[in-house]
Amino acid sequence: MVDHREKPSSSEIALGIYNPVVFKRMTKSWKADELIPVAEELYSDMETALGVKALHKNGILKLFSSKDERTFWEKKMHNGEAMAFLDTTKEQSEYTDVVFDELGNADVLHSGWLDTAKLLSAFRKFLRGNNLLIEKKFEYKNVNTSAELLQWNNLSAERIIFCEGSRASENPFFKNLPFVLTKGEMLTIRIPDFSPQHLISKGVYLLHEYGDVFKVGATYDWDDLTDIPTEKGKTDLVEKLKKVLKVDYEILDQAAAIRPTVKDRRPLIGLHSEDKRIGIFNGMGTKGVMIAPFFAKQFAEYIESNIPLDKEVDIKRF
Ligand SMILES: Cc1cc2nc3c(=O)[nH]c(=O)nc-3n(C[C@H](O)[C@H](O)[C@H](O)COP(=O)(O)OP(=O)(O)OC[C@H]3O[C@@H](n4cnc5c(N)ncnc54)[C@H](O)[C@@H]3O)c2cc1C
Repeated sequence: MVDHREKPSSSEIALGIYNPVVFKRMTKSWKADELIPVAEELYSDMETALGVKALHKNGILKLFSSKDERTFWEKKMHNGEAMAFLDTTKEQSEYTDVVFDELGNADVLHSGWLDTAKLLSAFRKFLRGNNLLIEKKFEYKNVNTSAELLQWNNLSAERIIFCEGSRASENPFFKNLPFVLTKGEMLTIRIPDFSPQHLISKGVYLLHEYGDVFKVGATYDWDDLTDIPTEKGKTDLVEKLKKVLKVDYEILDQAAAIRPTVKDRRPLIGLHSEDKRIGIFNGMGTKGVMIAPFFAKQFAEYIESNIPLDKEVDIKRF
C-alpha cells in the first residue's frame, strides 16, 4: 500500500453515514439492499481484526420539514422500492427539548454510520506494524511498464490498482474518465448535555460522535475545488442547523475535502484497456461507505477469477 497523507482525505473527513433512502424522492438508494449487508459485514470484521469500535448501526431519525414531506413518506411506506427502509411516522421525538420536531419524525431502517477516521487510523497502524505501508507520494513517471512485472522505485508488482480518490483526475493512465468533482464541507460542534441514540436528519445531518461532540454535514460545491474550508460553507451549515436545533452550540472545527464524484454518479472500476496489469477503483462519490466494500469484493473476483464486473461500474462504459 502506498499512501501519501498530505492532509486528511475525503474518507477521513466524511461523516460516514450510510442511508438506503434518497430523501428527495423517498426512493431506494442505488443497490442499497445489496450494498449494506456487505458493508456492515466487512466493517464489523475489520473492527474485530483491528480491535476498534467504528460501526454504529444506530439509524437515522428523519425529522420532517413540511407536512407534504411527511405525507409523501407515508405514501412511500406502503408503496414503492424504499418500503423496507421506511418506518412508521411518529408525532414527537424523544429529543423534542433539543430539536424542532413539530412536523413529526420517522426512523430510516438499516441505516447507520462508520467512524471512518477511527477505522482508517487503526488500519494505517496495522499496515505500518506489518511493514505493508509506504508513506510516499506515488509518482506516475517512476512506473516502468516494459518488463513482465511492473516496476515502481525499488518495487516489482504484478498489478497496480489506483485508489486515489479525487486525485485520480491527474492520473495519466486513466485520463479520459468523466470525474465531476464535488467539494464537501462539515463542522464539528459541541452541544452540552445531549446524547441522542440516533443520527438526526433535517436538511442536514447531525451526528453524535462522542461526549458532547457532534459532526454536522455536508455541503456540495461544484465550482470551488480547493480543499480549504470557506465562510460560505460554514454559513450554509449554520443556516440549516437553525431549522434543527433549539439549543445553543459551539463550533469547534470546520473541514473540507473533495469527493470523487462522476458524471453518471456511478463508480469507476476496471483494468486499463491496453495494460491489464493497471487498474482503478474510484468514483465512490458521495457514498463510499456503502458502495466500496461490495465493489471491492466484485473487483477482486473479476481480477482473480474473471467474473465480470457490473456494467454500470465498469470503466469500459467510457
Ligand atoms: C464533507 C464530506 C462528507 C461526506 N460524508 C459522507 C458520508 O456521510 N457517507 C459516505 O459514504 N461518504 C461521504 N463522503 C464521501 C466519501 O468521503 C467518499 O465517497 C470516499 O471517502 C472516497 O474514498 P476514496 O478512497 O476513493 O478517496 P479518498 O478518501 O480521497 O482517499 C484517497 C487516498 O489516496 C491517497 N493518494 C491519492 N493520490 C496519491 C498519490 N499520488 N500518492 C500516494 N497516495 C495518494 C490519498 O492520500 C488518500 O489516502 C463525504 C465527503 C465529504 C467531503
